[in-house]
Amino acid sequence: MEKLIYEKSQKNRKAATLPAVGVEEKELSKLLPDEFIRKVSAQLPEVSELEAMRHFVRISALNHNIEKGFYPLGSCTMKYNPKINDAMAALDGFRELHPYQPEDQVQGALQLIYELQKMISAVVGLPAVTLQPAAGAHGEMTGLLLIKAYFESKGDTKRRKVIVPDTAHGTNPATAAMLGYEVVEIKSNDRGLVDIDALKAVLSDDVAAIMLTNPNTLGLFEEDIQEVQKLVHAVGGLLYYDGANLNAIMGLVRPGDMGFDVCHLNLHKTFSTPHGGGGPGGCAVACRAHLEPFLPKPVVSKDGERYFLDWNRPQSIGKVKGFYGNFGILVRAYSYILAHGRKGLMQVSEDAILSANYLKHKLKKHFIAPHVQNCMHEFVLSGSLQKERGVSTTNIAKRLLDFGVHAPTVYFPLVVAEAMMIEPTETECKETLDQFAAIMLQIDEESKSSPDVVLNAPHTTPVGRLDEALAARKPNLRWEPATV
Ligand SMILES: *Cc1c(COP(=O)(O)O)cnc(C)c1O
Repeated sequence: MEKLIYEKSQKNRKAATLPAVGVEEKELSKLLPDEFIRKVSAQLPEVSELEAMRHFVRISALNHNIEKGFYPLGSCTMKYNPKINDAMAALDGFRELHPYQPEDQVQGALQLIYELQKMISAVVGLPAVTLQPAAGAHGEMTGLLLIKAYFESKGDTKRRKVIVPDTAHGTNPATAAMLGYEVVEIKSNDRGLVDIDALKAVLSDDVAAIMLTNPNTLGLFEEDIQEVQKLVHAVGGLLYYDGANLNAIMGLVRPGDMGFDVCHLNLHKTFSTPHGGGGPGGCAVACRAHLEPFLPKPVVSKDGERYFLDWNRPQSIGKVKGFYGNFGILVRAYSYILAHGRKGLMQVSEDAILSANYLKHKLKKHFIAPHVQNCMHEFVLSGSLQKERGVSTTNIAKRLLDFGVHAPTVYFPLVVAEAMMIEPTETECKETLDQFAAIMLQIDEESKSSPDVVLNAPHTTPVGRLDEALAARKPNLRWEPATV
């Protein structure tokens, strides 16, 4: 079959003899250096549309996705995103715009960006917003660059440190390190929250900022956030709020009201862009007025009735992304916010919190819940009890796949042994949560009565335990005809 396809493709290629642009083969050497001219045809598979379609439909069915089953991947907010928002982004008037079109022809798109900036500003309680960054980590970099530019503009060059609690998302220390800051980690206390004494011990006038993930990666709201805010501001440092998972607090509290100076939120988590597999994301970064002059340019602004791109921003940190950012994602966020309204957004968070606490309560009888207080949108369990019986968190995660459930985030955060970080999200119904709890209890039972079933899982997936290192180093991306 392979050989047949290859021979057919050679024949096709001969018949088509080189460029459609009208250059004869012998003329090519006048246009290109010899080493760049292909001596042998590219050995691409020559397949029909039907074969290609079957291939992609087949592999898409092998994959797990939110439309197929429960996906409680903590911190990633794998919730259901209403299809209406995709439909809005696919409207011809948006989809067929070209980024080089003159401003007069893209007034609608600019209006959408402008209004979305205003909406986000209202949600987080900070006056200025950029929508340029393409992901959460990218937004963190943008936010820290604002802070850096602010201190530089004041000639304050001694601030070399960024404080990061050990319950922060991993991207926080990575971002600070990437921008050349010294990362100062502080330990959390036994309630899983910022230890105020540990914070006090590292505060001095060389601190540029603290990056606070709230709720932290244990799913806990930082109860002493006002105190943290006062202490850091008192030494002249700024406060960065990692609000990637805004579905924990939206409509309930606002980072601006808590005293934060900069905040990012992931549009592809709370604001309905389907994600996973590294697809395009979007991020809003909001800040206080004193950081506004440094925002990435151009800034979408309004002059009377006309929207325009303001390039006249002498203190701007520059561009962080081409053109308007990932525009289709901005359309989805805009559509999502309009569809929910003020009350609806608040209910999103309330439901996310309710789902997580409901599940935590059901599961904590069988799995260790290291932190007793109520959680926000997610919670962390430890698989230590099961581990004592020889069944690790990895094994539990693999066994879940047999039930058509995606595994939770595992072995993170690092402060909990055998961690399982579970985020049910606001879009799951009680029946699904009950079903998941029942599956988890069954796996706990199996860890006592028939551990081999768990140790050898998964049993029902197309492939079993993969050599993940090998798969990453030597990916096999060859096309194969669908088996009938
Ligand atoms: C997802 C997440 C990030 C990073 O966002 P990306 O879009 O993956 O770069 C940062 N912080 C928290 C708390 C997150 O959950």
